[in-house]
Amino acid sequence: MRQETGNKGIDLLIFDSEDGYQEVSGHLDLISSATIPFLAEEIGSVGLDLLSSALAYGANRVFLLSPDGTPNQVKDSIAENVALITRVLQKTGSENFTVTQIENLSDIPRSENEVQISKVATFSAIGDKRNTIRTALGHFNSISDSPATYVDLPEGSLFGQIMIDSESCTLCMGCVSQCPGKALQAGGESPALRFIEANCVQCGICARSCPESVISLEPRIHFDYGVISKPKTLKEEEPFLCISCGKAFATRAMIQKMTEKLKGHWMFDKPEALNRLRMCEDCRVVDMFDKEDHISRE
Ligand code: SF4
Ligand code: SF4
Repeated sequence: MRQETGNKGIDLLIFDSEDGYQEVSGHLDLISSATIPFLAEEIGSVGLDLLSSALAYGANRVFLLSPDGTPNQVKDSIAENVALITRVLQKTGSENFTVTQIENLSDIPRSENEVQISKVATFSAIGDKRNTIRTALGHFNSISDSPATYVDLPEGSLFGQIMIDSESCTLCMGCVSQCPGKALQAGGESPALRFIEANCVQCGICARSCPESVISLEPRIHFDYGVISKPKTLKEEEPFLCISCGKAFATRAMIQKMTEKLKGHWMFDKPEALNRLRMCEDCRVVDMFDKEDHISRE
C-alpha cells in the first residue's frame, strides 16, 4: 500500500460495529484509497497501545470515529488518549503524525496525506500494554532530532513518578501497603522507601493515604525502561534502637514525630513516660511495671 501511495502517508480509520459502521457504510465515497478502515468491536476499547503502535508501524494519521450516539464517557476517554499521544508526538518533534477524534467522515481533511514515511518501527507489540505504549511512543523519541529522556504528561495520565518530602516522611510504610501496583516497596534490612516508576499507574492512592501528606504525583512518560524498572530509594535511614535493650524497632523519624506530638500530653508530662516512647514494646511494659512496683513499695 505504501508503494501505491508513492511512499506517502497512510491513514487509519478506526470505527466501531454500531454507529461507526453505519456512518462508514453510508459514506464510502469519503474514504480515500490511502486509508485503511479498521473495524473495532467497541470504539471505547481502542487504547493507547493500539493507537501508538499504529503510528509507530507507519500510519501517519489515525482517525477515531465517535459519531453521535457514542456515550459521552467514551468520547471523553478517547479525547484523553488523543491528548496524551498528541503531547508526546509534539514534544518529540513528530507533529506530522496525528491522532484525531472525529464525529463524521467529512471531518477527515480532504487534502492528501503528503507525509513521507521516515522510519517504521519493528518492535513486537505483544505482552504488557504499558510497555507496548512506552516502546511505541519511544520510537518517535528515538527518531527525534533531540530525543528527550521523558515527556511530562497531563494530570490523570497513567504513567509517571511520585515525589516525597523526605524530611517529613516518617517511613511508616503506610503507602507501601496501599500501592496496588507494587511501585512502592519497603527497604528490607534497613528502614527505606523504594519506588519503581515502571509499575506506577498514578492512581494517587499513596498520596491520599499518607498520614503526613508528603506525596505528590508527577505524570510523565520515561522512555528508558532500564532506568524506571530499577527501584529508586526515596528515603532511607538507620533504624532506631531501643534505649533499654538495643533492639531495632522503629525509624528515627517515627520516634521524633511521636515525641513531638505527645510532648504536651498529660499522659507524657513525666520524663520517664516520654522516655518509654524510645523503648521497644517489651521494654516499655517492663519499665511501666517496674516503676509502678517501685511506687507501691514506697
Ligand atoms: S510517604 Fe507517607 S505513607 Fe509513605 S512512608 Fe512516608 S510518611 Fe509513610
Ligand atoms: S500513584 Fe498508585 S501506583 Fe503509583 S506509587 Fe502511588 S499508589 Fe502506587
